[in-house]
Amino acid sequence: MPVVAVIPKPSAAVELREVTAPELEQNSALLAVELSEVCGTDVYLQKGLLEGVPYPLVPGHVSVGRLRKIRGNLCDVEGKKFREGDRVTFLDVHRTCNACWYCLVAKATTRCPHRKVYGITYGLDDGLCGGWAEQIYLKPGTRCIRLDADPETFMAGGCALPTALHAIERGDIAIGDTVLVLGSGPVGINAIILALMRGALKVLCIGAPHHRLEAASQVSASDVLNFEDHTERERLDWVLESTNGRGVDVTIEATGAPDAVVQAMRFTRDAGRVVVVGQYTDHGPTSPEVAFNPHLDLNKKHLDVRGCWGSDFSHFYRAAHIVADSNRSVPWEVLKAKLSRYRLDQANEALADVKEGRVLKALIEPGR
Ligand SMILES: [Zn+2]
Ligand SMILES: [Zn+2]
Repeated sequence: MPVVAVIPKPSAAVELREVTAPELEQNSALLAVELSEVCGTDVYLQKGLLEGVPYPLVPGHVSVGRLRKIRGNLCDVEGKKFREGDRVTFLDVHRTCNACWYCLVAKATTRCPHRKVYGITYGLDDGLCGGWAEQIYLKPGTRCIRLDADPETFMAGGCALPTALHAIERGDIAIGDTVLVLGSGPVGINAIILALMRGALKVLCIGAPHHRLEAASQVSASDVLNFEDHTERERLDWVLESTNGRGVDVTIEATGAPDAVVQAMRFTRDAGRVVVVGQYTDHGPTSPEVAFNPHLDLNKKHLDVRGCWGSDFSHFYRAAHIVADSNRSVPWEVLKAKLSRYRLDQANEALADVKEGRVLKALIEPGR
């Protein structure tokens, strides 16, 4: 009987449970989990701050493991059959319908109302659907990717990697651009790496705490600033000094703080671009001091502001392949050295460390 770590209800501690192994449907599989992760989303799940979450819930949306049992056919996107024992990761988003108005007309599959996410909107009642577990049930239609990358290097990017990849794509960065990343959590750090790959000349980062800014520098941010030590005016001056008084070409907001969105607009040059990817949970409006001025902050600036919700298979596929390339994976090797690992029975500790920002990235190793 596989053991899983469960959030029984909002604000309750994580507890271990033994559950019965599922009967495999046709074209499904059972994954023996090697690594799963703990991210900011899991902290919000535990607090009960996300909508549409069915508790009890096994968290862990991005995971790596080996296919333990396959029933029927399981193929990759190239049509190549998976075999038992293969190491895979899988897209946490399931059941994107490819039949609704959002999928077919808007071509915005991350807004498909039918999509379900392993470890977030699939609860324990839906089966073994989260990564903080010895096994995950890969339901029919789950998109698996053969993982050629070193699993720890891939997980050093984790869910933040496809998320950041989507944000960089939305940012439409040109060769030679100066990019500002607000936030030095996993999404911010991955955005720095990918902005440089996309051709940015310089990537600035404003974040905190110190150890995360150190990671930002190690993955080649040109300059970093700790926002805790500087007022908004000082931060703006710092950005202007680095950009001949204009502001950056593209800003990626990856903080989770509503005020940062308006600041991002002010840090960006006229006719530049802002991508908002950090507002995954509803933290309410900005504070009165950082109130949005439609004339000055947007229209007169001729600014392009883009939201970025979730990620799709294309982002996940590109992420898994870029990390498998020995030259391109170097920045994630740097992050790999900073991983913090936890056993399944240490999930509460892992959540607390992520919540307090004590670690850059926490992994759950169910087999440890
Ligand atoms: Zn759809
Ligand atoms: Zn996540």
